[in-house]
Order: sequence, then C-alpha cells, then structure tokens
Amino acid sequence: MSAFYHRCRYFFLPLLVTAFSLGLLQFTQANWQIWQGSINQLPFWLLVTATALALQFNRSRLAYLATLLLLFYADKQHHLLPSSLSSYTEANFLGGAMIITCFSFFKDRGLLSPHSLVRVFSIFLCFGMAYGWLWGIEHFQAEITAKSPLSLSFQFQAALPLYLCGLLVLTRTLWQANLVNTSILITFVIWVLYDLTPGQLPLSVLLSALAVIFLFTILIDSYFLAYRDELTGLASRRALYNLVLSLGRKYSVAMLDIDHFKKFNDTYGHDVGDQVLKLVAAKMARVSGGGKVFRYGGEEFTIVFPRKDTDSVIDHLEDVRESIEEYRIVLRDDKRKRSTKAKRNAANKSNKKTVSVTISIGVAERLGGETFDQTLKQADEALYRAKKKGRNQICT
Ligand code: GH3
Ligand code: MG
Ligand code: MG
Repeated sequence: MSAFYHRCRYFFLPLLVTAFSLGLLQFTQANWQIWQGSINQLPFWLLVTATALALQFNRSRLAYLATLLLLFYADKQHHLLPSSLSSYTEANFLGGAMIITCFSFFKDRGLLSPHSLVRVFSIFLCFGMAYGWLWGIEHFQAEITAKSPLSLSFQFQAALPLYLCGLLVLTRTLWQANLVNTSILITFVIWVLYDLTPGQLPLSVLLSALAVIFLFTILIDSYFLAYRDELTGLASRRALYNLVLSLGRKYSVAMLDIDHFKKFNDTYGHDVGDQVLKLVAAKMARVSGGGKVFRYGGEEFTIVFPRKDTDSVIDHLEDVRESIEEYRIVLRDDKRKRSTKAKRNAANKSNKKTVSVTISIGVAERLGGETFDQTLKQADEALYRAKKKGRNQICT
C-alpha cells in the first residue's frame, strides 16, 4: 500500500466523513430538536460503551479520552466541579487541548501498567501548565508587551500553546497515519470547534459523534487486526476462509511460493527477506482477472479467482510470475543513512545492490462437488510439481 493511499484511507477519508456528518447534523438540526431530551443522554451511553470496548481491545488512549470527555460532559450536565474551578473555562479548555495532544504521542499501554501513572500525572500537569500559562500572561502582560518586538494581542499570546498543540497533533497524525491517531486529531478539532463556535451544535451531539468515531475506530482496527497480514498488508488466511463461505460453485485457486527463500534469508538476512516479501506481495496484489490475493503463511500466497476455470487464469498468473522475475529489488543500505550527503552520493553507485527472486505457481479449479480444501490441495500438489520441474513456472 503506497504512503499516499495509506494517508487517504486513514487520514483524509475519516476527516472528510466526519466533516460531512457534522455538516449534515447541523443542516438537519431543526428535524432532531424534538429529540433533544433523549439526545442529552446519548453521550453517557456511547462514551461508556466506547471506554469499555477500547479497554477490551487495548486502545487505552481512546479509553482515557472517552472517560475524560464523559467526566467533562457529566460536569456540564450536573455541575460536579466546585464553581471556583468551573469558572476558569479558558484554562480548562487549554488544559483539555494539551491533554489531547499528549495522548496523540503516548502509546497504547495496559491500564494496570506503571504507564498509567504517567498518563494520570500528565493530565494534572497539563491543567497545571494551562492555569500557569494564563495566570502568567494575565499578570505579566504589560512587561511581555513592552519587551516583545512584535505587538501580539493578549488573545494571541493566551492561545499560543493551543496553536502549538494543533500543529503537534496534526504533524503526529500525518507522520503516523492510523485510525486511532486520526480519531485523536478529530477529538482535538471538535474540542477547539466547541470552544470557538459555541452553539453551532450542542455538546451532546458533538460528544455522541466523537463516541461513534471511537467505536468505529476500534471496530475497524480490530477487523484489520484479524483479517490483514501485518507485514505485507494483504488479506490473511482467516480472510481467505471468510471468502470461501461466499464462493460459488466455480472458481480457481492458485498457490504461489517464493523459490529458495530460505537460502535468500541465509544470504541477505531476515530483515531483507521481510522487505522482499512485502515488495513481492505488492506485485501479487496487482494481479488482473479479478484474482483475490491472500498471504497463506510464511512465503506462500493464495490467489482465488471466483467464477473462473484454470485456462482463463493462466495468463493472469503468468503476468504475475513474469513481473516478479523481472523485478530488480534495490536493497537499502542502512549505513547510508548515517553518512553525509556528499559521501552518500559518492558511494551511491556501489551501494545500490539489487536482488531478484522468482516464484513457482500451482493452480487448480474446483471439480465436481469438491470442497475448497480439496481444490487447495490440488493447487498445492501442482505447486510441488512446478518446484520439481525446476521452479519459476506454473503447473496445473
Ligand atoms: P523452495 O524453492 O522449495 O520453496 O525453497 P524455500 O527455501 O523457499 O522453501 P522452504 O519452505 O523450505 O523455506 C521457506 C523459508 O521462508 C523459511 C523461512 O526462512 C522463510 N520465511 C517464511 N516466512 C518468512 C517471513 O515472514 N519473513 C522472512 N524473512 N522469511 C520468511
Ligand atoms: Mg514454502
Ligand atoms: Mg519457497
């Protein structure tokens, strides 16, 4: 999966869907106002569910944020905090933004680990820093304005940490685009929007939308965990057996295996082997003819062609085999990272080592009342014949 495609999927798409949904909610506001009484209860149920599921699936950052938002909402509804604290809304808002920023940089850890102490401590620290910053700006405003070459307004100075937080969360999410990070960015945006444009959408609706985003994130993440192979990004063997349930009577199955891969690992190391597996998998993923590609395990892959017989898939498989045979894989030399640019340019030619691998393929079509496993076994036997005949070829 290219970096651009990855960002589209895990960054731009969720942001777009959220913006569209919030816009739609605002546009249709008049229609659901009558339900306001029930909607006010929604964040309680949804945020509690999101916290429970996040804990179950080890997404502790989302669990913390959902709990904090729940406490915030409970305070707004039932005035839990002493009024002396509730009145410092600016500091609470800034503290909240800082907490969200911290959580975008934390890692998901078990709730009962020592890391929890750091999380809890940082929550108090963020509030402390927010109160300290605003107190400082208020009390030393005259001195700061006199000494500063730029004439920055009080509002701008007060909001400086907020701009910094926004930049940090955005950079973090772009740097490591995944659904949890994007959810945390959305939390930040909604938090800021709620403060800057109060009354556009009720807090109950914003928090319910956030809880739904958290729930979707956890579900989609868990789906990928179960059905995607982490190294290659291809569908996993579990996904293959899921597909089998929906296959019709006619289909072809191909088993693909990298030739002499053990020797390759022994020569270049396991890390290079992993890189090559990823690149070869990316080539396979481009198979034409409606083939669906799975990593069966190790350096073995399966392609299923629904509604196709063997004769009609050979050409598509031949294309895959050829594209991998012709693929010159440039090995990355880690030492180059450490050298200076000049040295790197000089050494560039000699360091650019290329390798290539070949694959063997066995293919079979479903005959009579065969089960999927029987057809797969036929494909495996055909693969064995391809290996015996000298590898880098297809056998039926
Ligand atoms: P053949 O041509 O007969 O298939 O020979 P082979 O060496 O490829 O076959 P074999 O099944 O004996 O070895 C498969 C090797 O694939 C063993 C292991 O070192 C390597 N391998 C399996 N999974 C991975 C992986 O995830 N990463 C890396 N780097 N190597 C793997
Ligand atoms: Mg093998
Ligand atoms: Mg092999």
